[in-house]
Amino acid sequence: MASNTDFLLAVENLTVSFDGFKAVDDLSFYVDENEIRVIIGPNGAGKTTVLDLICGRTRATGGSIRFHNREITALKEHEIVRAGIGRKFQNPSIYEDLTVFENLEISYPRGRTVLGSLAFKRDAEVRDRVQQVAETIFLAPQLATRAEYLSHGQKQWLEIGMLLIQDPELLMLDEPVAGMSVAERKKTAELLHQIIRDRSVIVIEHDMKFVEDIAHKVTVLHQGKILSEGPMAQVKADPKVIEVYLGH
Ligand code: ADP
Ligand code: MG
Repeated sequence: MASNTDFLLAVENLTVSFDGFKAVDDLSFYVDENEIRVIIGPNGAGKTTVLDLICGRTRATGGSIRFHNREITALKEHEIVRAGIGRKFQNPSIYEDLTVFENLEISYPRGRTVLGSLAFKRDAEVRDRVQQVAETIFLAPQLATRAEYLSHGQKQWLEIGMLLIQDPELLMLDEPVAGMSVAERKKTAELLHQIIRDRSVIVIEHDMKFVEDIAHKVTVLHQGKILSEGPMAQVKADPKVIEVYLGH
């Protein structure tokens, strides 16, 4: 058995093979508490597959994924969510015909309160939490707005809010700022810096300016393996990274 670790997430020798093709190949990396980790790399490098493996959507062929030292590699998707890992996909999955308030409200975890039978108490608790999350995602003024009327960027924030309301300890975001305006990207960076006070975040991203704004550490993937890893300044100067990715 692997030794204990202080890391929030420990991925070791993770491998997945699709019909003999190794999309993720003997990959090891470690994420700290309160860390923003960014994964970059060319298309097809295996970035999305890594998130699929961590959230249980894809089964590993080999290796291990530990969260708080607990082996989660064989858990089902909903068990991994319950363990405290939230995942946002590339396309926002919000309810267009519901308001911002309602979208957040239905994402609030059920059975969280001890006094679950006291409906009015739960209502107040949910309302407070919805308000709090709406402020974090810059949508407090839009609580009564139907989601279909939000901008593309606001929809992305709403989906992040729908995950935040479940209070995950690890939040994984696949290309969250794709299609966002420069101003929205800046605010998203602010948002991430704020939410990691209570959690860690793994972000897949292509926008290098955004990556510089948010990353504590960058992991560069190439053909399912780590090409380079470290602070952005170090990774950016790595000739291997320039050759395979940044030079294009
Ligand atoms: P990235 O997100 O870095 O662009 P992906 O993780 O989506 O890359 O894909 C990595 C490689 O694995 C690609 O070659 C892709 O075609 C392949 N792949 C991903 N998922 C599957 C799957 N379910 N079955 C077969 N091949 C897959
Ligand atoms: Mg991808």
